[in-house]
Amino acid sequence: MNQQTSKTQQAFFEQSKALVPGGVHSPVRSFKGLHTTPRFFEKAKGAKIWDTDGKDYIDFCMSFGPLVLGHANETVENALKEQISRGWSYGACEPYSLALASYLVERLPHIDQIRFVNSGTEAVMTAVRLARGASGRNKIIKFNGCYHGHLDSLLIKAGSGLAGTSEATSDGVPKNVTDDTLILELGDLAAVREVFERYPKDIALIAIEPLPANNGILPQTLEFLQGLRALATEFGAYLLFDEVISGFRLGFGGMTERTGITPDVVCYGKIIGGGLPVGAVAAKKEIMEHLSPIGNVYQAGTLSANPLAMVGGLETLKQLTPEAYVALNSNAKNIIQLFTDWFATFENGRFKDLSIVNEGSLFWIHPGEAPKNASNMPAHLTERFYELFSVLLDKGIYLAPNAYEISFISLAHDKATQEELKERLYS
Ligand code: PMP
Repeated sequence: MNQQTSKTQQAFFEQSKALVPGGVHSPVRSFKGLHTTPRFFEKAKGAKIWDTDGKDYIDFCMSFGPLVLGHANETVENALKEQISRGWSYGACEPYSLALASYLVERLPHIDQIRFVNSGTEAVMTAVRLARGASGRNKIIKFNGCYHGHLDSLLIKAGSGLAGTSEATSDGVPKNVTDDTLILELGDLAAVREVFERYPKDIALIAIEPLPANNGILPQTLEFLQGLRALATEFGAYLLFDEVISGFRLGFGGMTERTGITPDVVCYGKIIGGGLPVGAVAAKKEIMEHLSPIGNVYQAGTLSANPLAMVGGLETLKQLTPEAYVALNSNAKNIIQLFTDWFATFENGRFKDLSIVNEGSLFWIHPGEAPKNASNMPAHLTERFYELFSVLLDKGIYLAPNAYEISFISLAHDKATQEELKERLYS
């Protein structure tokens, strides 16, 4: 096997670059900085994905998180086929979103109501407007390195495709929009209190990924998260848990369940749609009823609660039993052990400086010490990642093509996949 891109793939990328900025529809797909062009994929099943040359890869990107069951899960596939024969968008009330909403509200004690949107970004955008509308305040607290989608007001010091750039913000975001966003360092509770004391009546919302996972994985202490809860309550602000990655991933109730902390508003994405475009904002009824058509906080969507996506989401979530999480975490444990052992031995320790941060079925590979926050990321992170990525790509193992992005393990990364991974690593 050879990591050289084939002529066909190069031709696809050239054609794509002519038609699409940078050849991609989302920047983290671009292989920027890597000395090869992005692979074009045309088929996926279980833990594997096939490129247009017919080469298969064990996939650890997994569409950046939604595919907790693996690619093309058969139960979901059959339900989608059944649904598609009844039409795929009505722009009207239907029972499919009702089924998904009631499934979720029954199982998530911190929410009474939910509104479905089409992406994580839309969910957070709605949550921010909701918190501002409901509180009559404008300022929001955001943490350095957390990514909440590409809405203007939170596109500052974000992670994901923006991580590692010197200007961690975007052109086209007016200064007056970001003036109300207060950026603080993860873990620094004293700084959070300080800004609340400076603006006691102005802060609408604290936004946080309760498990920050867009700048590698930066686990926070329970005390820090509890401290945020207490400060939000003391100063009358809302606490938003952005569970777009962690929701349904670290157990069904995500970080909310794991920490026992009740946020005021929660955002979901990724797994909630099982790989179809779904996001959601959810909270208690008193807060949710600020949304239109009952309240004055406007929010809408032509394709919101799309029946196909609702069915995909529900059929995915229904498979996430307590036993499924045991299997998922066991897959993760074995796979992380395989990578760790291989780092120590490959080519006389060529990767022996690499370690893994692991939370449930999420993991992140980094050189040196695990960082505490986004301001002390390891030296040579990008260079070391590129080297690793190329070696793995060659062996038919696909990571998300960016040093700051994390990897995802699914239920389909089972014993047989683990065996195959071992063979590929040592081939
Ligand atoms: N919040 C978090 C925590 C995310 O990780 C992401 C995307 N990776 C988003 C929001 C935005 O979601 P989307 O890409 O679906 O707009």
